[in-house]
Amino acid sequence: MKLAVRGIPTNAVERLRAGGLDANGQPALVAIAEGSRNPCRHCLQLIAEGEEMLVLSYRPFAHAQPYAETGPIFLHRQDCPRYEASQLPVWIAQMTPAIIRGYDRNDWIKYETGAVVSGNELGVESEKILADGTTAYVHIRSRFNCFQCRVERA
Ligand SMILES: [Zn+2]
Repeated sequence: MKLAVRGIPTNAVERLRAGGLDANGQPALVAIAEGSRNPCRHCLQLIAEGEEMLVLSYRPFAHAQPYAETGPIFLHRQDCPRYEASQLPVWIAQMTPAIIRGYDRNDWIKYETGAVVSGNELGVESEKILADGTTAYVHIRSRFNCFQCRVERA
């Protein structure tokens, strides 16, 4: 199965970079990236140590509803291109363990799809979950439950 992996929408990122409020109604904090495991959720690349990043609360769903979890994410402070590819970014294999789960068309969690897997299994697990046509999309999260990216059928 061909996958479609995308970073969060560019218009949302531009709004946040311009000082727009996050999911908690606060402007993003500016921080300096420490270490090498700070993924930008727009370009889905790791933010280089020492680089400026935005830290903010994000709800990766179009509308508020009971299953629309909100949590912290990082973004490059400077412009970056939105990730759009048919596979997951390479670094995600190092994110172990990771949380994966599918959602239905109403953005509700499909409980039978939820799993904690090794980072290098995320591509195969995404395909497995998306093989069920009643699954609309997959979310990948870190072991801290931080949203990483959305995966769909291409
Ligand atoms: Zn970026």
